[in-house]
Amino acid sequence: MIWQERWQHSLMNNYGTPPLLIARGAGSRVWDDTGKEYLDMIAGIAVNAVGHAHPAVVKAVSDQLSTLGHTSNLVATNGPIELAERLLSLLQAPGDARVFFCNSGTEANEAAFKLGRLTNRVHVVVAQGSFHGRTIGALSWTAQPAKQDPFRPLPGEVTAVPFGDADALAAAVSATTAAVVLEPIQGEGGVIVPPVGYLRRAREICDTHGALLMLDEVQTGIGRTGEWFDFQREAITPDVVMLAKGLGGGFPIGACIAYGRAASFFGPGSHGSTFGGNPVACAAALAVLKVIEEGDLVTRAATLHEVLATGLVARGNGLVTSVRGRGLLLAAVLDSDRGPELESAARQQGILVNAVLPNAIRLAPALTITDTDIADLLSRWDLTTAQVVG
Ligand SMILES: *Cc1c(COP(=O)(O)O)cnc(C)c1O
Repeated sequence: MIWQERWQHSLMNNYGTPPLLIARGAGSRVWDDTGKEYLDMIAGIAVNAVGHAHPAVVKAVSDQLSTLGHTSNLVATNGPIELAERLLSLLQAPGDARVFFCNSGTEANEAAFKLGRLTNRVHVVVAQGSFHGRTIGALSWTAQPAKQDPFRPLPGEVTAVPFGDADALAAAVSATTAAVVLEPIQGEGGVIVPPVGYLRRAREICDTHGALLMLDEVQTGIGRTGEWFDFQREAITPDVVMLAKGLGGGFPIGACIAYGRAASFFGPGSHGSTFGGNPVACAAALAVLKVIEEGDLVTRAATLHEVLATGLVARGNGLVTSVRGRGLLLAAVLDSDRGPELESAARQQGILVNAVLPNAIRLAPALTITDTDIADLLSRWDLTTAQVVG
């Protein structure tokens, strides 16, 4: 295919050569260059929170772009002020919390990394199998040897403990620990849900040693798991929260929110971003949050979990043994390492999913997924799993 050759001859090979060229999207459906339709059950990897080409987001972005597309942070605009206020309210953050805007998840983690250094401590505790991004600071927190090893030395000192094991966490944190960094559910790690109370224990451990609790909600945040932010189900107050992915609904934006003492660590000159708080990105995010709120889509995400989980097993033709995750962040767990085969069969049947592990298929559809989309998904899933079983 011509586009694949052009890709190979012009782009770096860090993604390999993709199997599809997508030309357009609407809601939970996308179409490739040949006009074939797919149900987009990965939604830009938990990014397209309100689906493709949502009219409210298109209008907000277009209006803002034709009014004021970009300034620098040498001046203020209304977008970041309004969006910061909105996020702090959804987070139910105390009055001393403050927001820093950037453009991606890895940058939200880099901002958090620098906040950690301003405690005058260096040591950080993360979880094995974590994913916090790929720039060098964030990569030092991404405890996956295959991603880290080619790029050593990485900034230290980082200790990685088994995810979900509060006793292991307690043993790793000391009076020299700047921060504990955790995902409420490990996304890239395979949609791994920790035991109930894990974040509460993490909070206590951090309090004991004066360490900051930093929660990476880049994948879990913005309603995806059936709460605005997944940590809210444990009724704790973190010190730092990192956001990106679903926040802009497809427009690049990230945020690092700090509470309490951490909120005042940055002073003029400490940190910055040319594009951070860009008015168009903020308009996109405000529109996304409005669509989610007005449609009560956070509740819907919680409700749909059971529908999808039951359906994926029932229509799994014996291949799917269980489903884990929360809300609309799910992994269908397979009886064997046939994930990549299933991902490709799904594509043939018109479903886009992701083999996040050899034995697990991740789904992270738009929160706007309709009942018709789900019915179509489950019938195509039946055909897919039947094809793989043979
Ligand atoms: C995707 C992801 C990141 C990195 O986000 P980018 O926008 O790709 O830099 C960081 N943390 C988590 C939990 C993620 O899922």
